[in-house]
Amino acid sequence: MTSILQCPVCRKPLLPTVTGYQCAARHSFDAGRQGYVNLVLAHKKHSKEPGDDPGMIQSRRRFLDLGYYCRVSDGVNEAVRTVLSGLADLSGCSILDAGCGEGYYLQRLKEALAHGGTARLPIEYHGVDVSKFAVRQATQRDRTMAWFVASINDLPFLDETLDIVLNIFSPANVMQFARILKPSGSLVFVSPGPKHLNGLREIIYPVAREHEAPSITAKARELFAPAPVSRITYPLELTNNQVIMDLLAMTPYYWNIDQETKARVAALNRLALDVDVEIRVFRKKKAG
Ligand SMILES: [Zn+2]
Repeated sequence: MTSILQCPVCRKPLLPTVTGYQCAARHSFDAGRQGYVNLVLAHKKHSKEPGDDPGMIQSRRRFLDLGYYCRVSDGVNEAVRTVLSGLADLSGCSILDAGCGEGYYLQRLKEALAHGGTARLPIEYHGVDVSKFAVRQATQRDRTMAWFVASINDLPFLDETLDIVLNIFSPANVMQFARILKPSGSLVFVSPGPKHLNGLREIIYPVAREHEAPSITAKARELFAPAPVSRITYPLELTNNQVIMDLLAMTPYYWNIDQETKARVAALNRLALDVDVEIRVFRKKKAG
């Protein structure tokens, strides 16, 4: 049986066992009761519980399940469908959501492809996040996909084994993505556009600032062919405080703002804002 997974200790292939995975050197990783496998080695953890905490995961899940970002998710699904339709090898396909959070985008992708008719090819879905709380939630969404706790900087996949890597509003490591993608592979990269969350940002920053262009593009240029951008923009109106606070908890602002600013957002019961998202499909450059 072939495996695309890599042992985080010795880099040999990880093969499935009754209880989880094991490599030829007998490093073994068991799936807990909750159905996911933790591949972060204790000595490589930079903090006790890396990644998003349970409160942030709950906020994200509540917000996303209300459908406010379903058009973003539809855009991701469309981009993946286009990549799949260009694949020459139809014997099987592996997709990884790198920084999958609580699994919203990967689950919706799976549903879309199951109903879309584009892909009759067998697809394996993998989700990786460094937050075990996120991965626990993702596993509850869909137990048939393979969910792992792992770092984006040490992805547990063998070289050139994945067809598509998704990276959605999440830290990126383009070197890792290029390593694990097949020569024909693509990176679907989703980042905030210049107007994203305008409306909320004006409350947080009295002097509005522009979003910086995503830093991935410079690094990606060496490893991936230039990517056309598709942009999804639409207005959003949030009409209760819980949902506004949930959105805030999903943003990097949550960590950066002072108590006074947080209180200002906490007093809102209504918020009009823009969603502005850019989706880029980077194709891996041929080596040499
Ligand atoms: Zn090993």
